[in-house]
Amino acid sequence: MYIFKKTQELLNFRKQQTQQTIGFVPTMGALHQAHLQLIKRSLQENDFTYVSIFVNPLQFNDPQDLEKYPRPIQQDIELLKSIHTNALFLPDYNEIYYTGIPSDEINLTYLNSILEGPKRPGHFEGVVKVVSILFKIIQPHKSYFGLKDFQQVKLIQQLVKEKNYPIQIIPYPIVREPDGLAMSSRNIHLSPNARKKATQIYQWLLKARQLYQEGKSIPEIQQTIIADIQKDPYFTLDYFEIRDANDLSEIHHPSQKPVALIAVYLDNVRLIDNLELL
Ligand code: AMP
Repeated sequence: MYIFKKTQELLNFRKQQTQQTIGFVPTMGALHQAHLQLIKRSLQENDFTYVSIFVNPLQFNDPQDLEKYPRPIQQDIELLKSIHTNALFLPDYNEIYYTGIPSDEINLTYLNSILEGPKRPGHFEGVVKVVSILFKIIQPHKSYFGLKDFQQVKLIQQLVKEKNYPIQIIPYPIVREPDGLAMSSRNIHLSPNARKKATQIYQWLLKARQLYQEGKSIPEIQQTIIADIQKDPYFTLDYFEIRDANDLSEIHHPSQKPVALIAVYLDNVRLIDNLELL
């Protein structure tokens, strides 16, 4: 596996790859099975796959969250090698933000006003900055993003569309633990007891889907699930909402495809998840 720490080295290498199809999976490391599944999909669909590991300070609105973000880099490298990843891009801050490659900006008014937006000020600006620079360095044909970060997928799709990048965005389904908890690098911060409780998040999403399939109205389902969450002393609700899976607008019409999105705190760890209700 190639490991590039310098942007210029990667650019020089990438210049030679004129005949290959290039896949790209951006990550923040602390790799788990979900990351590996995205990468394996890219390995299947492209001649050459780059994975990046970069914990982007600009997208952390909480300094403590940034500080305690896990960084098991040796273990990550072994995992990437074990699935035959072609190349790892492992830049430091300067290699992203001080090599003269400009980031792009998009209009974030809507995405910043809903769900994660108001809860994490500056987060989406940070994601757009880093991903636009990474795209210019890696120049992939296809790039893979997990639907666990549902709003992020919408953001990246908007970025690619507005800026006309010649990149296909491939959304990847949520990968779950056997008990239903969505895999996340943050799960290791959960105490054993909280880890057991965390499976409840998926149960609420399943209940929302069941209620929807029984014909309950969207406001009714929201009220029921929010009441359930508020009754549970282990969880602090950040949001639970049902929105249109296409553009995250509010649901007013039966033809819209609903997705339930949840963010809760458990043991001071913020966990997000979502489920399409159809
Ligand atoms: P991260 O390292 O958390 O930035 O994640 C890197 C990529 O993996 C992002 O596109 C995430 O959405 C995706 N990802 C993380 N966890 C999961 C999961 N449980 N299922 C699907 N995709 C995931």
